[in-house]
Amino acid sequence: MPTKQILVVEDEPKIARIVKDYLENSGYQATLLAHGNDVIPQIQKSMPNLIILDIMLPGKDGMEICKEIRKFSTVPIIMLTAKVEELDRLIGLELGADDYICKPFSPREVVARVKAVLRRTQPEPLSDQLLSGPIVLDRIKHQVTINNKELSLTNSEFELLTVFMEQPDRVFSRNDLISMVQGYNFEGYDRTIDSHIKNLRKKIDQQLPGQKMIQTVYGVGYKFSPLNTMA
Ligand code: CA
Repeated sequence: MPTKQILVVEDEPKIARIVKDYLENSGYQATLLAHGNDVIPQIQKSMPNLIILDIMLPGKDGMEICKEIRKFSTVPIIMLTAKVEELDRLIGLELGADDYICKPFSPREVVARVKAVLRRTQPEPLSDQLLSGPIVLDRIKHQVTINNKELSLTNSEFELLTVFMEQPDRVFSRNDLISMVQGYNFEGYDRTIDSHIKNLRKKIDQQLPGQKMIQTVYGVGYKFSPLNTMA
């Protein structure tokens, strides 16, 4: 099972360091960020399994960041807040955070909350599932969901997406795609691929506008880049 990646956004170095150490001693991998403006670009590059997000940060504050993340991802978020009084207001704002921890906290408490939130929000993926950010492809159920909403795909679209998600960032020629999905009774050749991809893109784009996950590589073919660009 791959190590769970936790992104810790906290501008107080001492707190950040302690949290990181505790997480790593508990078998997680932790990345630290101290500036609010760095968070969105970081998770677009690499989506963590959970984010611990302080509210008072230089640059964008935690609330703003949380709201922005929720526009494109359901990644679990635990907010850190300095004041108990802030907590009620925060929960009232319905930012979409999964949990809140008040400062001062014990690092052990943080680890316990991380475990609980991960257990609640991310049941261990079965090997018959392919995951990419908010996209879950289930081979057994023959079902694709984005942020828990089911996509209605044709057989060819489903098989194409499977091939893409199995090897993110690999560039496939049209011939690659035809031969890889032919085992699944792919109908049509060459430029028919283009129209399948066009339709697949349209369906993904309805759930994740502007993400452009399936990219055209001019003169070559296509590749699938999870959360690469955000318009
Ligand atoms: Ca802070």
